[in-house]
Amino acid sequence: MQATQAALLTAPHNIGLVERQLECGDDEVIVKNHLMGICGSDKSFYRGQLPPKTAEFRQEPKFPFYLGHESGGEVVETGRKVREFKPGDKVMAFGWNNNFAAYFKAKVFELEPVPEGLDMDIASLGEPVACAMFSGLNCGVQLGDTVAVMGGGFAGQIIAQCAKKKGAARVIVIDVLDGKLQLARKLGADTAINAAAVDPVAAVRELTGGIGADVVVEAAGSEQSINTATAIVKHNGIFVWYSWITRPVTLDISRWHDDGIEFRNTCLVHHTYKERQVWTPQALRPVVRGLIDVKSLITDEFSLADIDKAFAFVDQDDAAVKVVLRP
Ligand SMILES: [Zn+2]
Repeated sequence: MQATQAALLTAPHNIGLVERQLECGDDEVIVKNHLMGICGSDKSFYRGQLPPKTAEFRQEPKFPFYLGHESGGEVVETGRKVREFKPGDKVMAFGWNNNFAAYFKAKVFELEPVPEGLDMDIASLGEPVACAMFSGLNCGVQLGDTVAVMGGGFAGQIIAQCAKKKGAARVIVIDVLDGKLQLARKLGADTAINAAAVDPVAAVRELTGGIGADVVVEAAGSEQSINTATAIVKHNGIFVWYSWITRPVTLDISRWHDDGIEFRNTCLVHHTYKERQVWTPQALRPVVRGLIDVKSLITDEFSLADIDKAFAFVDQDDAAVKVVLRP
């Protein structure tokens, strides 16, 4: 039995810590958190936009909701049937287990071991980093390509870096916030386009001699972003899905037919944990080797005790890339 403070979202814009007792089941593991990340999906929850129930959740997506899924830390207790982990092991969370807490409890299959040599701050963001890296590694970029990344958030920034390192001649990041675009330039993007200031379709057309981008990765998660991505990908180009969009959207998809667009789904919720055990070490290998700058994406830090302030901040400041909490 482990007592912990844990985040409970009781209603939109109403989050606080409650006392919980975690009882370690036979096939479960209790982890002491090192650091937690606030995901875009957590922000949507906070704003009252609950997604449909998915296989990811073991609680109904309704209020009150025990929030949090991005974190990592050290195993402190294991159930009697657990052979995969032992106290002292460093692990990354891959599941919704009320991770905004000093301690959280997970099934064995919801944890991955931290790769040798990976900084614990980054390992605690292992799930969002690995997901974004998987997308960048599997987006189909070829040496010399122009890759457009819709969205300069945490995932978009990692995907852009990954595409550049994989041989893209030109990486274009498109966002509506100058702070995120400046960060993208600093981290190696060749061109940053503010879609609120200029027409991104015309801008990409001009940059590519009227051809369009070889690969477009949708990591902004809006109707407009999907439609812009559709408009800027070249004939027979690759459209890569990444975002989790939980509301119905209206799409202009005539080009999908006329221009023979290829679609790749790099959204990882579709993969089983057995596949995840294979791809996680591969996706994180370039990060362990220092090829991808993740630290610069941690823009703000709060203590877990100030989780209400952290969420109020995230809600107001769209320029924040990754806001983290420390227990
Ligand atoms: Zn997430």
